[in-house]
Amino acid sequence: MSNQIEQLTIVGGGTAGWLTALMLQTALNANPKEKQIKITLVESPTIPTIGVGEATLITLPETLQDFGINEREFMQRCNASFKLAVRFADWFTDTSGQRPVFYHPFNSPPTCAGKSPAYYYRKYGPPKPGMSLVDSIVPNVAILRSMKAPRQMDSPDYGRHVNYAYHLDAALFADFLRDLAIHRGLIHVRDDVLDVEKDKRGYITALTLKKNGRHPAELVIDCTGFRGVVHSKISEDPFVSFGDCLLNDRAVAVQIPHRNPKKIEPCTRATALSGGWVWRVPLFSRVGTGYVYSSAFKSDDEAHDEFLSHLRTSGDLPADAPDPDTRVLKMNVGYRKNAWVKNCIAIGLSAGFVEPLEATAIHTIEISARWLLMNFPTKEISPPLVQQYNALSSGLFETIRDFIQVHYLKSNRFEPYWRATREDVKVSDVLKWRLDMWHSRLPEEFDTRSDSLFTNWNYIFILEPKGHFSGKEYAIDTMLDQEDWQKYCAGLESSKQSVLPRLADHYEMLTAMRGTAPNTIQPATSLA
Ligand SMILES: Cc1cc2nc3c(=O)[nH]c(=O)nc-3n(C[C@H](O)[C@H](O)[C@H](O)COP(=O)(O)OP(=O)(O)OC[C@H]3O[C@@H](n4cnc5c(N)ncnc54)[C@H](O)[C@@H]3O)c2cc1C
Repeated sequence: MSNQIEQLTIVGGGTAGWLTALMLQTALNANPKEKQIKITLVESPTIPTIGVGEATLITLPETLQDFGINEREFMQRCNASFKLAVRFADWFTDTSGQRPVFYHPFNSPPTCAGKSPAYYYRKYGPPKPGMSLVDSIVPNVAILRSMKAPRQMDSPDYGRHVNYAYHLDAALFADFLRDLAIHRGLIHVRDDVLDVEKDKRGYITALTLKKNGRHPAELVIDCTGFRGVVHSKISEDPFVSFGDCLLNDRAVAVQIPHRNPKKIEPCTRATALSGGWVWRVPLFSRVGTGYVYSSAFKSDDEAHDEFLSHLRTSGDLPADAPDPDTRVLKMNVGYRKNAWVKNCIAIGLSAGFVEPLEATAIHTIEISARWLLMNFPTKEISPPLVQQYNALSSGLFETIRDFIQVHYLKSNRFEPYWRATREDVKVSDVLKWRLDMWHSRLPEEFDTRSDSLFTNWNYIFILEPKGHFSGKEYAIDTMLDQEDWQKYCAGLESSKQSVLPRLADHYEMLTAMRGTAPNTIQPATSLA
């Protein structure tokens, strides 16, 4: 008898459930000549999805392309727009008393005479007065300030001059993925999981469903959000909270119309307020925005009032518009040390969540599904595979925690919340050591090679504006030739000048893509 897994059950129909389902259905059943794995997704008809999670990272275009998704159809169905960077405002005060805006782009620059161009920027300054490091060495900010798309109107889908991610409507994305997964053969059951049956070893043998009764199970993926309904029934591992490193545990969110629907900024905004920060995610059809804060420093009412006042002063909400309906979300910030226990793997919010700054959560779903495919078990479920998967998964959450914490540690805002985010928190030994080392030289590629998400350039782009490298003398400084820097800047400027006029206007590009989107998927039908 074959030892291959014959059936796989995914529980939960949010972004995690459907993205994982689509990826597994596509990859595991790619060869029609082989026996197909029966994949079922069970989704509660009554428990809603979290309904947020609309900014993504640059891995998503690659994931969609790898798993055979037509980009135009995706953009049209999900009201998606392009994201070229994150714009940070009000996170710190500089030496002249200003609160400068800075950008975290998704591109790494080429080297300058074999060395990091950031060294040259420090020593010889920007090519034009006032230009930031980012603007001096990558084109993303020039492109997004011109409200351009990352490619030309006639470029192929998924083509790019600079790396990009998407902004998308979370509910529509889940619907789109569902239709596609069902179209590709996945079985959809709308029912509640009430309990699990286990064998002597504690492995799940069946799920107990409210309407459909016993559902036999070989391998179960728990995508039930913060509840972790299935995983919590077989695992005794405690949830590891990041609350001692990152203080935010609440968000108040709202969806608002565009003030000017033809001016869609191709970037996410993260604007700091007195007790946290506000995300602004402009989709094609509307703007999603929310204030992330700590309940230890703000009541929900205080956060609501500060948030609405910010929306009015920023111009997103007209002064005379009535207050929109907002909703408060609670966040469990932390992770499960062992996402994979016995024959159950938690993916999505059930595996862990690090607050939404830098929009990493959908990425964790993509990478978890890929890691699962690469470590896919036979019925025996080899413990070393499980161990490897769990090491990758916990490493990812710890990497994200550290990177996000840098934003807070390097802020110099004075309010009690901001002081607490740097003075009353734990910092991992790795992060302490890195920040210390980066006083003696800039972050290098090999410093972060073991991290699966953020590179040395991500760290440079968020540390440099806040002065982490200022006023230092580095050994490498004596090896830098000003002529190399001048040539480097001239080359970048000329390539920017030739590319920028050819790139499509963001809004026109989105409109054109939507107009030519195919309609390849039939609406989904599910079993009650
Ligand atoms: C404030 C906030 C902002 C965020 N912003 C971003 C962002 O910008 N970018 C990003 O990448 N991520 C973001 N996230 C995270 C993102 O929302 C989630 O990672 C993503 O939506 C996936 O959620 P999920 O599918 O794991 O859970 P959910 O959306 O909660 O889905 C859970 C599913 O499980 C089902 N379920 C629950 N119990 C049962 C049961 N007993 N039986 C059967 N089914 C059940 C529910 O019906 C639902 O279908 C944000 C999160 C928060 C809290």
